[in-house]
Amino acid sequence: MNRKTFLKNSAILGAGLGLGGVFPYNKVLGAAQTRVTILHTNDTHARIEPFSDSAPRYAGMGGVARRATLIRQLRAENPDSLLLDAGDVFQGTPYFNKYNGALDFEVMSKMGYDAVTIGNHEFDNEVRGFEEVMDKARFPFVSTNYDFGTTRMGRRVHKFLIRQVAGVKIGIFGLGVDFENLVLPHLHRGVTYLDPVEVAADTTAHLKGYHQCDMVICLSHIGYRYNDNRVSDRVVAQQVDGIDLVIGGHTHTFMPEPELFEKPDGSRTWVSQVGFAGIVLGRLDFYFDRGRQIASVRNHNYPVTDGSPDSGTYAELISRISADGGAASA
Ligand SMILES: [Zn+2]
Repeated sequence: MNRKTFLKNSAILGAGLGLGGVFPYNKVLGAAQTRVTILHTNDTHARIEPFSDSAPRYAGMGGVARRATLIRQLRAENPDSLLLDAGDVFQGTPYFNKYNGALDFEVMSKMGYDAVTIGNHEFDNEVRGFEEVMDKARFPFVSTNYDFGTTRMGRRVHKFLIRQVAGVKIGIFGLGVDFENLVLPHLHRGVTYLDPVEVAADTTAHLKGYHQCDMVICLSHIGYRYNDNRVSDRVVAQQVDGIDLVIGGHTHTFMPEPELFEKPDGSRTWVSQVGFAGIVLGRLDFYFDRGRQIASVRNHNYPVTDGSPDSGTYAELISRISADGGAASA
């Protein structure tokens, strides 16, 4: 797709407000390039409906119906896409209190998520609370630095995933945040936190070495950056070799474009995060050369606004929820 087509498609998607950038580092953009589109969200926090028009912030923004329509259109434009979420699906509106996350998992299954990692709020109803609704998710969970021991949760969460997209082999792993001072011990009983940097280094080496992945994506819920010495996406990007993309969450950081980390050896890691509540849908296009090396990366995020198309994908679902008493105070 050339730039003109790209802009045209963006306009069709009602994303004139879109925030984007181009990150070429190989000036030769051959026609034979393969494009893989990464669509991403994080910290959706039970935001089934848009913020109300009278909300003090983000009035009228978000909503799963519009997000689903955007995703469907972007996938129609490039079927070689992955849809990823960086955790904290649970908690935030009365929808969570009523459905305990089951509704979110149902909606995300319909949207066709390819992988979702585990945020701290996924433990809000204890490990058992997650286990009770996890079968509503028809997508895989991935988390690498939580040891799930003998919990049933562990049977549904993968250590890593490998996907072939347009002939490109993509490894995906997940990082969860430290429970200390964040998740009470009885909530995560049976689940242990392990050092994200060590786990990320081992897993990336395994994916790129043993499994010969062309690209490695880290779905992270450890947070973008901190003013103290806590580990963050920036720390992982700087300290771990071989991760091509970190899709972040937890700090609800609205990044207008990804941050690029370049190491002395020439390797590059992009870090992105799109705020929270499904207000923005992130998009990164990775262009691969014939040797399946990343040739360039293009970014365009889509604010989910009342100008976004809403085909009523979830009209039936929403009316069922309403009939069920809904969560009117959401
Ligand atoms: Zn979080």
